[in-house]
Amino acid sequence: MVKKVLLFLLLSASLYAQVTLNTLMDETGTRLIWDSEHKIGTLSKGEDRIVFSTDAPSLLINYERTIPADPALYEKGILSFSDETARLIYDFFSSRREDNSYEVTTILLDPGHGGKDWGAYRPTLVDEQQTYLKEKNVNLDMALRLEELLKKKYPDKTIALTRRTDEYIDLKERVAIAESYEFSPQEGMIFLSLHANASLNKKARGFEIWYLPDNVERDLVDGDESQAVSQVLNTLWEGIFTRECYNFARFLLNSIDESYPEDFPNRGLKRELWYVLRNKNMVSALAELAFISNEEDIPLLQDEEFLDDYARALADGIGDFIEYFEK
Ligand SMILES: [Zn+2]
Repeated sequence: MVKKVLLFLLLSASLYAQVTLNTLMDETGTRLIWDSEHKIGTLSKGEDRIVFSTDAPSLLINYERTIPADPALYEKGILSFSDETARLIYDFFSSRREDNSYEVTTILLDPGHGGKDWGAYRPTLVDEQQTYLKEKNVNLDMALRLEELLKKKYPDKTIALTRRTDEYIDLKERVAIAESYEFSPQEGMIFLSLHANASLNKKARGFEIWYLPDNVERDLVDGDESQAVSQVLNTLWEGIFTRECYNFARFLLNSIDESYPEDFPNRGLKRELWYVLRNKNMVSALAELAFISNEEDIPLLQDEEFLDDYARALADGIGDFIEYFEK
């Protein structure tokens, strides 16, 4: 009987011996990116990453291997781990070197289309004059606003544009520009393409962020991975920079979403290989800013205040990513 009681006490003690995420982050000096949609968290320090979720009975280590662990617990807005899992995370980070810091040295903005290529367009009135709202101009306008903000924010980084006038450059040239920068292994760039959307469905409106998925079949993780973790695995790339495309896209999306809580729809993250940018030192994403085909979005794209706020939201999203990545 005594044994049973003792066993019960031990069991209940271990059930409730949870270590909160905050405590763990303090002790390991890690940072968190939390995907509330899929309940997936990434703890990072230098180039090391541990991905956990509230569903998967495993931890994903540096996107390379998994180890069995208790799923994280999410209760009343607080994330915590079992004692054992917390120990695994702590041991991993304390065994790693400290000297692997990374730096984003360049931010390259890529306003889509230009010159003879208008992108999406739409007849509109400006000062009672019939004219066209053209995507190429919307994209360039946003790139120039964003450039100004980023130059102020990051005087030590190179802020560049693939085009700064109404000129035509094809995809190949854009890629060539992006790949003309040289980096040391610990350095790299952010590449952000700016576009505006159009749809036959006139009701479609709002913003979305595209990121490049991995198009190479990999078999890094054996066994039955939970779907949650495999979603993260889908963003795998070769280098530490390219691996972070998903997180970069999410920071951007969250930042815009926070600026426009209700009246500007968040259409979420999309993944597709829209063209090949396989520079190992590059984090890239593409923003579809709004719909040129939508009656509600059109006036927004002609509104100075909206455009300024939008550029600020993009700059903040870039800033959030840099802060997360460089630490
Ligand atoms: Zn476009």
